[in-house]
Amino acid sequence: MENKKIIIAIDGFSSTGKSTMAKKLAKTVGYAYIDSGAMYRAVTLYCLENGLFNGSELDVAKLEASLNDLSITFGVNEAGGTETYLNGKNVEKEIRQMAVSSKVSIVAAIPAVRRALVLQQQAFGKEKGIVMDGRDIGTTVFPMAEMKVYVNASAETRAQRRFDELRGKGDTTTTYEEVYKNVCERDYIDSHREESPLRQAEDAVVLDNSNMTIEEQDAWLLDLFNRLTK
Ligand code: C5P
Repeated sequence: MENKKIIIAIDGFSSTGKSTMAKKLAKTVGYAYIDSGAMYRAVTLYCLENGLFNGSELDVAKLEASLNDLSITFGVNEAGGTETYLNGKNVEKEIRQMAVSSKVSIVAAIPAVRRALVLQQQAFGKEKGIVMDGRDIGTTVFPMAEMKVYVNASAETRAQRRFDELRGKGDTTTTYEEVYKNVCERDYIDSHREESPLRQAEDAVVLDNSNMTIEEQDAWLLDLFNRLTK
């Protein structure tokens, strides 16, 4: 008999490795994977490209009026990886840059943006059989998700991982200190905003992966999945 399909919500602070583990789990169990952070990043890129930012100040009215013109979709590349599209254009690379990282928490705090993206995220999960990672997946997007994981690791560990990732992608200018500052700033904004702040769902299982290898955390997740779907 085929196992029942469930919704898997993986939440936590930035750079905890959520996306990597969520992607891997989705692949292993044959589920769809949605990176909800990529959606907030795509809206942020739209704001930057359309002059909606004046320094750190965002023209919220203009953004709200533009939300209907924004289409965020996902495609799969040759290697089987998910890539983000903004109004039909592949923006996977652009949305990972520091220019976007440093503004995304401002955009993600706007209630109208969250409402629009949450509706889209819920539609992705209609058929279940999905892994979604983010900040509010287990609390707001899918409060009834059958598997909820809250991932944590120290800010230093997370900044180092993000820094290594940027270097790996050819960014030779951003310093560790800048990345560390960005991680702390996003932690603060994400957990203090009024609309759907990052917090652990009461029924979430905590995974602190500060001292875990990728293999250990993948095995941990798969074991939890197997226990819940048996
Ligand atoms: O997951 P990632 O770090 O790429 O997310 C980028 C930003 O998008 C987060 O710092 C947060 O501000 C926002 N976000 C959110 N809710 C989600 C996913 C991401 O507010 N579900």
